[in-house]
Amino acid sequence: MEHKVLNQSIQTAVEAFKKLDEKITLFTSATSLLDWDQKVMAPKKGRKAFSKAIGVLKTEEFKLMVSEEMGELLSILSTPEAADHLDEVTKARVRERKDFYDRSNSIPSDMFQEYAVLTAQANESWEEAREKNDFSIFCPDLEKIVEFNRKVVEIYGYEKHPYDALLNQYEPGLTVEKLDPLFAKLREKSIDLLQRIQQSAYKPPVEIFEQSFSVDKQKEFNRYLLPILGFDMEAGRLDETVHPFAQPININDVRITTRYIEKNVRAALFGTIHEAGHGIYEQNIDEQFEGTALQTGASYGIHESQSRFLENMVGRSEEFWKYFYPKLQEHFPSQLEQVSEEDFYRAINTVQPSMIRVEADELTYNLHIMIRYEIEKALLEGEIEVKDLPSIWNQKMEEYLGITPATDSEGVLQDVHWSFGGLGYFPSYSLGNLYAAQILNTIKKECPNFYSDIENANFDNIQEWLKTNIHQYGKLYTPNDLILKVTGEELNANYLVEYLEQKYSRIYQL
Ligand code: ZN
Repeated sequence: MEHKVLNQSIQTAVEAFKKLDEKITLFTSATSLLDWDQKVMAPKKGRKAFSKAIGVLKTEEFKLMVSEEMGELLSILSTPEAADHLDEVTKARVRERKDFYDRSNSIPSDMFQEYAVLTAQANESWEEAREKNDFSIFCPDLEKIVEFNRKVVEIYGYEKHPYDALLNQYEPGLTVEKLDPLFAKLREKSIDLLQRIQQSAYKPPVEIFEQSFSVDKQKEFNRYLLPILGFDMEAGRLDETVHPFAQPININDVRITTRYIEKNVRAALFGTIHEAGHGIYEQNIDEQFEGTALQTGASYGIHESQSRFLENMVGRSEEFWKYFYPKLQEHFPSQLEQVSEEDFYRAINTVQPSMIRVEADELTYNLHIMIRYEIEKALLEGEIEVKDLPSIWNQKMEEYLGITPATDSEGVLQDVHWSFGGLGYFPSYSLGNLYAAQILNTIKKECPNFYSDIENANFDNIQEWLKTNIHQYGKLYTPNDLILKVTGEELNANYLVEYLEQKYSRIYQL
């Protein structure tokens, strides 16, 4: 009898939890659309006032996630008795909401609202600082953001390193202890490979890109490419922004952006392929997860693995351009007629240390990330102060990449992330590269026609494999469980190191 009563109360709690989970997910959907509008559509003058409206809505969303009701439901549904009655999907939904609840419920809602307003302001001050090349305009806001994060990690709690608490927001289960050796190996091998490349007499003919490529033609090519890759244009949009991004509103409304630069045809080309990778992931999540906490990618790192995989492993492969290069030549006959496919392939894979992370090649990219990772860790530990960032930044650039930015705009001010408080986020990009290389190793074994499919622009099998093994699950599995399930082993740096070594040995004739 008692058992039956218990079952009933669990059942009631499950129903109430599902409703609340859905309500929060719909709030997220609405605020995502508003974020997208701010970045893509809203007139510049109206943004500041509207950021307050977004702040209010996000606060309401936050209050639901940390509400008393949520707390009670989670405590009922996380007991061992409840575990026997919950299916796998409900358990994962509870895990996701509980994770956030436990982390956040000790943050007072006025502190959260203050932070939402601060980050909206910081975004403005960062933009102005970057435009005017004046770090001091952004510095006070960034100091407040760092201060807030120092408080927050104490509230969240951590076992060994305060930075773990920030990493966990983006990559559940990841710690400094796990990440340091992965990065150490990647750093050592990357710097060694970079030095050999720089000593190589062979130089890819990168000057082919120092020409004008009509923006209209670029748009045409991108719109031709997107659906072939597997991005569903009836369940998404492509727009233009200075900083490209992917924003899911729901599974059948996934919006990506790109930017067209006449003197830089590569920016839109690879930017679009990259964002398409994010978009295709979101579009292929199982519809049973619509309106639940699982209606998104497993983690930021896994998400980034999907964009990097499509951009680099597929989009910068020789096979890809066997098919698409003649089409690109048709769009740009005067620029590319005289350029061979081989030269084009080598030119899009040029390795050249540069100031700007988002323009970095596959090899030096990770070194940019390590600079940010080390700075964030030290900021959090209080080892360095925000006001010293411009000089620290420049020193590290010199040490890792052998170059020094001439201005802060192309140095410490280049990225938007710190302005929205995204400390702990940067490692996701390199994790994406690490995951992607490990996934490549598995997909090549399980889809023996991987490269011949790419050569024929047939992405059905590849997208089907990604959907079956990764995309459909949304956030059902933790990143660690997912990579283990997909590749049979924990994340390690060997696959990326080997991939880079092989690729560039051939290109640079090392
Ligand atoms: Zn990305």
